[in-house]
Amino acid sequence: MKKLSIVVPCFNEEEAIPLFYNEVKKIVTLLEKKYNLSTELMFINDGSKDDTLRVIKEYNKLDDRVKYISFSRNFGKEAAIFAGLESVIGDYIAIMDVDLQDPPELLEEMYLEIINNNFDCVATRRVNRKGEPPIRSFFARCFYKLINKMSKIEIVDGARDYRLMKRQMVDSIIEIREYNRFSKGIFSWVGFQTKWLEYKNVERAAGETKWSFWKLFLYSLDGIVAYTTVPLSIASVSGFLFCIIAIVMIIFVVVKTLVWGEPVAGYPSIICFLFLIGGIQLFCIGILGEYLAKTYLETKKRPIYIIKERSN
Ligand code: UDP
Ligand code: MG
Repeated sequence: MKKLSIVVPCFNEEEAIPLFYNEVKKIVTLLEKKYNLSTELMFINDGSKDDTLRVIKEYNKLDDRVKYISFSRNFGKEAAIFAGLESVIGDYIAIMDVDLQDPPELLEEMYLEIINNNFDCVATRRVNRKGEPPIRSFFARCFYKLINKMSKIEIVDGARDYRLMKRQMVDSIIEIREYNRFSKGIFSWVGFQTKWLEYKNVERAAGETKWSFWKLFLYSLDGIVAYTTVPLSIASVSGFLFCIIAIVMIIFVVVKTLVWGEPVAGYPSIICFLFLIGGIQLFCIGILGEYLAKTYLETKKRPIYIIKERSN
């Protein structure tokens, strides 16, 4: 009998878990009967401050398909996904948000794609961003354009973490033990045959989003720094360009002074240039710093998450 595992990261989701469980239970029970599968639901409590862990434990007592891992603090969704993927034992593994924004009824279609058409992975993307603040959508679009221009791997616009994968692919993912994890990049980096399903955005069932604009912005920087070193080249190229401009300007000024003399003028333009060049220098140092900081964190080889307790 094959096993289907579902990894569910949870952070302050006491309200969403019961709704999620009821929906998913229906689908899972149906799949078990129809395709002769066994299933497990792996909840990862990512250091929630509310009653999330207690709610999960209740379902764990009620239903032995429910398992859990609880972190010692909030390590972030990426760490939660990683911990889940590391501890499930299924032959087919799904990742699903607990807020029902990832429609559970798609699971059957995903499973059938894998079984019948021999895909390694069936992933989902949202075709619209209804219900999301317009500025957020705008920056998200810019981010996808930028990262796809700069890096070799392809990151699909609107891609969710919601996907069903075969064991083999999950094994390759957990082999990547980097500390700064950007799953959308990792999924694409490991390769394998991926089928994309599309669906219209669904709004959160309960609770509220855990991602502030600032958190998302930093996350997007993580993605860029992790998957491309193009910004470093931009820094060196702009440095080089400015050297050339400076040389041309020096020659021009010397010749001009020798031929026409030098009336003292042009003070404001000098200040402008100073600021411009100073700004560019700081920007480039900043880019260097980003990469250095990531390297620094990676070299420490800290664990990606710490488990405080887990189900048996
Ligand atoms: N999440 C998590 N740790 C965090 C932030 C979020 O495990 O630090 C989980 C959260 O409980 C949810 C999923 O990640 O199951 C997606 O979060 P959310 O719905 O807030 O993100 P959005 O859908 O708004 O992008
Ligand atoms: Mg959500």
